[in-house]
Amino acid sequence: MSEQQQFDVAIIGGGMVGATLARALAHTRLRVALIEPQPQETAPSDTLFDLRVSAITRASQRMFETLGVWEGMVARRVSPFREMHVWEAQGKEIHFDSADLSEPYLGHIIENSVITASLYDGIAQQANLHCVFGRRGRELVQTQNGWQLQLDNGAMLEATLLVGADGSRSWLRQQVNIAVRGWDYDHAAVVTYVKTEKPHQATAWQRFVNKGPLAFLPLSDGYSSIVWSTQPDNAKRLCELSSAEFAQELTLAFAARLGNVEEVGPRAMYPLRFLMADQYVKEGIALVGDAAHTMHPLAGQGVNLGLLDAAALAEVLHAAVKARRSIASLQTLRRYERWRRSENLNMLVMVDQIQRLFGNEQPGLRWLRTTGMGIVGRMPIVKDEIIEHAMGNRGDLPALARGIG
Ligand SMILES: Cc1cc2nc3c(=O)[nH]c(=O)nc-3n(C[C@H](O)[C@H](O)[C@H](O)COP(=O)(O)OP(=O)(O)OC[C@H]3O[C@@H](n4cnc5c(N)ncnc54)[C@H](O)[C@@H]3O)c2cc1C
Repeated sequence: MSEQQQFDVAIIGGGMVGATLARALAHTRLRVALIEPQPQETAPSDTLFDLRVSAITRASQRMFETLGVWEGMVARRVSPFREMHVWEAQGKEIHFDSADLSEPYLGHIIENSVITASLYDGIAQQANLHCVFGRRGRELVQTQNGWQLQLDNGAMLEATLLVGADGSRSWLRQQVNIAVRGWDYDHAAVVTYVKTEKPHQATAWQRFVNKGPLAFLPLSDGYSSIVWSTQPDNAKRLCELSSAEFAQELTLAFAARLGNVEEVGPRAMYPLRFLMADQYVKEGIALVGDAAHTMHPLAGQGVNLGLLDAAALAEVLHAAVKARRSIASLQTLRRYERWRRSENLNMLVMVDQIQRLFGNEQPGLRWLRTTGMGIVGRMPIVKDEIIEHAMGNRGDLPALARGIG
C-alpha cells in the first residue's frame, strides 16, 4: 500500500463475515479495503479436517451462491445434512427431516477454512477491493471526512466508513467506545473430529447431557465434527485425556448412538459467551457479525446471523450510493441497525433461553423441558416453524439471502 490511500469503506477483520461483506460490495462504485491480521496463505493443515466448522443455513447458502463463491466451497468440501435428532438424557427426542418440508437437505456442515478460502478466491481480481493481510489497526483518528487509520506497520489509510467485522473482542468497537452487554457462560466448547463405528447418516445429532449440549455434525468420509459444551474445568480435562480415554467418554456421553467412537482428531477448546453491542452503528461506524453479537453455538446460528448482517449492510450501502446519500451518515446506518438488531435479538434471546433451560437441573425446569420437547415433537406445525427458522428461511431477509444479486 502506498503512503496513504483513500477508501469509501474499510472493513476491519476478514473472517467469514468481513470477507462476505467485501464480496457483497464488489462491483459497486465503492472503494473497499479489507484488513485482516492473518496471512492470506495459511500453511497447509496437518489435520484431516479444520477443527472449526459451521452449520450453514439454506439462506446463507443462497447468499454464497449469489455471490458466486458456493461452487468453490463445494469443490473443496461440504457435507449436507438431511435430518436432525435432538434429545436429552431423560429420553425425550425431536426429529427433523428435510423430506417433511420437501427439501433435499436442511443445511450443510462446512469447515470455516473452506468458507474463508472460497470467499478469497479471485478477490484480488475485484478492481474495487483492496486486501491487506497480516496487518491490524494501531491507531484511529476521526477527521472531517471520516477516519484516518494507522496500521501496525505504520501505513496510513483514510476511509469514510469503518466496519468492525473483527469478532467478539472487536478492536474497533473498543476504539469507538461502543458498550456491550454480556456474560461468560462458564462453559467452553471442546471441538474435534471423530470416526464412529456406525455411519452418521447425513444427520446432525445433538444430545443435551447435564453438563451441556453435545453435537455430532456430519463430515465427509464418515467422520463427524464434535462440539461438546461443558464447564471449563471439565473441558480442560477432556482436552488432556488420551485419545482412547476421550473416545470412551465421548461414546458414553453420546449414549453410543453411533456405536463406539473409533478415531479421534486433535482437540481444542473455546470459551463461550453471550454478547450484545448496545449500538450497531455510530456516525461513520458499523459493526457486523460477532463484533455486534455473540451467542452460544448450540443452535448453529452465530455466523449465519453475521452473514445476514453483511448482506443487509451491503444492501443499505448500495441504496445510499444509488440515491446519492452519504454512506456514513447516521440516517443511512440506522436503517441497517433497525433491520438487523431486532432480528438478531430475537434469535440471541431464544438461544440463551434454550441454553438456560437445558443447562439447569432444577426439577421444575427438567419437567418443563421434557414436557416441552414431548409437545413440540407431536406438533408438526410447530416443528416445521422451528426448522424453517433454523434453515434461515424466516424473518426479513436481505435480497442476497433470497437469491437476488
Ligand atoms: C465451537 C463453536 C462452534 C460454532 N458453530 C457454529 C455453527 O455451526 N453455525 C454458526 O452459524 N455459527 C457457529 N459458531 C459461531 C461462529 O463461529 C461465529 O459467529 C463466527 O466465527 C463469527 O464470524 P466473524 O467473521 O464475525 O468473526 P470471527 O470469526 O471472530 O472473525 C474475526 C476476524 O477478525 C480478525 N481480527 C481480529 N482482531 C482484529 C483486529 N484488531 N483488526 C483486524 N482484524 C482483526 C480475525 O483474525 C478474524 O479473521 C460457532 C462458534 C463456536 C465457538
